[in-house]
Amino acid sequence: MRNKMYGEFGGQYVAESLMPTLIELDKAYHEVIKDPKFWEEYRYYMKDYVGRESPLYFAKTLSAKYGPRIYLKREDLNHTGAHKINNSIGQIMLAKRMGKTKVIAETGAGQHGVATATAAALFGLKCRVFMGAEDMRRQALNVMRMRMLGAEVVEVHSGTDTLKDATNEAIRTWAKDAEDTFYVIGSAVGPAPYPEMVKAFQRIISEEAKKQILEKEGRLPTAIVACVGGGSNAIGVFADFLDDKEVKLYGVEAAGKGLSTGEHAAAMSAKNVGIIHGMRTYLLQNPDGNIKTAYSISAGLDYPGVGPEHAHLCQTGRVTYDSVTDTEAMEALLELCKLEGIIPAIESSHALAYLPKLCKDLTKDDIVIVNLSGRGDKDVNTIANYINERGGL
Ligand SMILES: *Cc1c(COP(=O)(O)O)cnc(C)c1O
Repeated sequence: MRNKMYGEFGGQYVAESLMPTLIELDKAYHEVIKDPKFWEEYRYYMKDYVGRESPLYFAKTLSAKYGPRIYLKREDLNHTGAHKINNSIGQIMLAKRMGKTKVIAETGAGQHGVATATAAALFGLKCRVFMGAEDMRRQALNVMRMRMLGAEVVEVHSGTDTLKDATNEAIRTWAKDAEDTFYVIGSAVGPAPYPEMVKAFQRIISEEAKKQILEKEGRLPTAIVACVGGGSNAIGVFADFLDDKEVKLYGVEAAGKGLSTGEHAAAMSAKNVGIIHGMRTYLLQNPDGNIKTAYSISAGLDYPGVGPEHAHLCQTGRVTYDSVTDTEAMEALLELCKLEGIIPAIESSHALAYLPKLCKDLTKDDIVIVNLSGRGDKDVNTIANYINERGGL
């Protein structure tokens, strides 16, 4: 069948009972993407509801500090504050076309839950969001947001009470309720066709960025940098440049407290292949073969796996993957606040923190695009704690 694998990665590693549901979804998705009316409606919501296109902003002060001409793709300015809404709206439009009346979603930090609750309210669908008990405690503000938007937040008590466990619970519920329920996955992960579908709804980032950089500079960028959790903002900003071999692409994972401490979320650092959430991919594994808990100061990067296309792009060398620590990301965050007057999400700050390393070998004639995947309002508590521990601003 179509596009189920990215080299040796991807696939549909799910229980037999879920296969008819995946086949139904795969068929509906491939029909819908051929329909120009679907994309016309999608573009309408992207423009008038999300506020696209998002600006490609020339960061003058940042450029002066690091050398090359640095542009920020401002996904932080989207409605609900990040790139995730592009995908939630796309998937919920598909759910409607399939005649589903309910959606479910998993969420860790709550950002995908909020984006999905928002899109469900917009399209009049019932929404249930699965969230680990520990995450609900840490992200009380987003729990409130989802409830205000009309969603039911289901508290998950299993494993470590976090994202991985919420995802397992969402998959179980989906297998049971698939008749009227659509599962909205929040990153470029999961069994086929999800990675491909999420990419299709996030590729608008690179379509815009390419047009914008050609207008502003008359040429393609030297390099593009994005943070990688499951990999949706990264695959979105890479998509339209993958065939432009002269454009170097960089994905930055969370090294947490440092790769050597074992407390990190850099699924591609050790190149362990395994199966998680219906896909074969690189993931964090203990020596006994069990999935290891991911750690990052950033709740949105705190995922033990990575989307299968990234695993493939890593293996083929088309994209270079590296990682930065909590401290490097937090210092880059504080720097962007002061230099450009923009408070970025901690996730996005991992891409910013890669600039010193990347720009060492570049000149002022080079062009770099950093995907600013989201805004940092949601992170102010974490940032305040970090500032306290470091002894002030
Ligand atoms: C969720 C999130 C991420 C990480 O998810 P990807 O699928 O890897 O993009 C990155 N940035 C922000 C702002 C997020 O909310």
